Amino acid sequence: MSEQQSPWSSVDQIANQVLSCTKCVLAETRTQAVPGAGSSSAAVMFIGEGPGKNEDEQGLPFIGRAGKLLDSLLEQVPLLRDDVYITNVVKCRPPGNRDPEPDEVAACLPYLQAQIELIDPRVIVTLGRHSMLRFYPQGKISNDHGRIINIGKRVLLPVYHPAAALRNPRLNETLKQDMKRIPEAVRESLLLNANAGNGRNRVQSAVQKDSSPILADEPDTTFLTGSSDNEEPEDSSGEQDQMTLF
Ligand code: SF4
Repeated sequence: MSEQQSPWSSVDQIANQVLSCTKCVLAETRTQAVPGAGSSSAAVMFIGEGPGKNEDEQGLPFIGRAGKLLDSLLEQVPLLRDDVYITNVVKCRPPGNRDPEPDEVAACLPYLQAQIELIDPRVIVTLGRHSMLRFYPQGKISNDHGRIINIGKRVLLPVYHPAAALRNPRLNETLKQDMKRIPEAVRESLLLNANAGNGRNRVQSAVQKDSSPILADEPDTTFLTGSSDNEEPEDSSGEQDQMTLF
């Protein structure tokens, strides 16, 4: 995904425009748009595919059962929702939780690009196969989940969608292990960045909620050869709380 200069100067401005957006047909069936939520200076950004029924009703990303699981996974890092930013590729719910059409994704893409540009996260965690493919088209979720992938000045950490984990205990454990790699992904992003000093301070404030040595360990570079040899299904789940992403 290429990043272009944002026409907006703040994440709130983007959100305001999203709330009244009618650029694609999803505006006709949504209850309300779901711009995203969290810290506008987050070091870690989570991106799903699109809002589900609960999100559409409440205007917030990742609520309901999948959202609760995501919260518990964040706690183990440890992170809170306020530490990260959570959004979706499309900001309005496709009817019946269908996949968004290419023209809908294209219409909504400037918002996501602008959010990434303004928030400037170190790590992008994609939730589910479809979201991963927006950033890593050659990827395969069964092979690439939990891998730390350099996508320029950031790193990508694709993980299974929480809704998939709710349906499949094996994926649940895989997702847990993959989410534990977030600190390592942050470290890797710092290694990639020439101004690691500024970045380190920022990440420490954004990621650490206590004095745990999240950045004090020596970087683990095992990700360079991939993290998983799990044989996970490529298309293993739908979901109820959020769109069907697998
Ligand atoms: S999905 Fe995106 S482009 Fe389409 S109406 Fe909603 S905010 Fe606008």
